[in-house]
Amino acid sequence: MVSQPNQTESDITVANSDNLVDFHCHLDLYPDFPLVISEANDAKVFTLAVTTTPRAWKRNQELTKDTQYVRAALGLHPQLIGEIGNEISLWEEYLPETRYVGEVGLDAGPRFYKSFDLQKQIFQQVLQRCAEHGDKILSVHSVRSAKIVLDYIESYLPASRGKVVLHWFTGSSSEAKRAVEMGCYFSINTQMLHGKNHKSLIKNIPIDRVLTETDGPFTQTENRPSKPTDVAATVEILSALYEIGNQDMVGQITANLRTLLTN
Ligand code: MN
Repeated sequence: MVSQPNQTESDITVANSDNLVDFHCHLDLYPDFPLVISEANDAKVFTLAVTTTPRAWKRNQELTKDTQYVRAALGLHPQLIGEIGNEISLWEEYLPETRYVGEVGLDAGPRFYKSFDLQKQIFQQVLQRCAEHGDKILSVHSVRSAKIVLDYIESYLPASRGKVVLHWFTGSSSEAKRAVEMGCYFSINTQMLHGKNHKSLIKNIPIDRVLTETDGPFTQTENRPSKPTDVAATVEILSALYEIGNQDMVGQITANLRTLLTN
């Protein structure tokens, strides 16, 4: 808790210059975790290192805390809740140590549906704890569950108590609109922009709610797992979709990050 306000200030300072942003990357799942951290930091890509289990928190926190551009997020991945749902108590214990939370959320895909009731129970708890603490920023997974994810956010995490970034959002246009009205941001990766629905999705997302992500190593760039610097390609696609220059798009995304971190 003690170091959090200072870190927030320095994060905003970092977002003051036009840097690339990877707001959702699993750096701890790469073979050489310390190396990918220093590569992202050297390249000045503001990177949110999301985690899938609270047991990974300490090491993520330790390796990122002295970097300028990489921040760790405390997660409990919905796809793992069937096995490690009981780690919610550890997640709660670490929550005061960070402003960033993720990956959390819901997954109603066929492989994870059997844990869906427990996922909902835990997601509710996550949102309520974040609301109690205040000022958290969450990276949220919503596979086949956009409506219920938004229902839960609306019920348990008022916009005044925390911010939500929807990661790899694949809900409908009307769900995207609803999320915008609720104050959510969207972190967009290149793979999302390959499908033919991407234009209608982007049309429903105002440019000031857009962030970029890789979700590495779960996406590929040039036949290898994506790294934070690969968001440059995503920015290029977005700048074409929003019809603004590439450098203006970079500036827009850092401005969005700044707003997210400040307000
Ligand atoms: Mn992920």
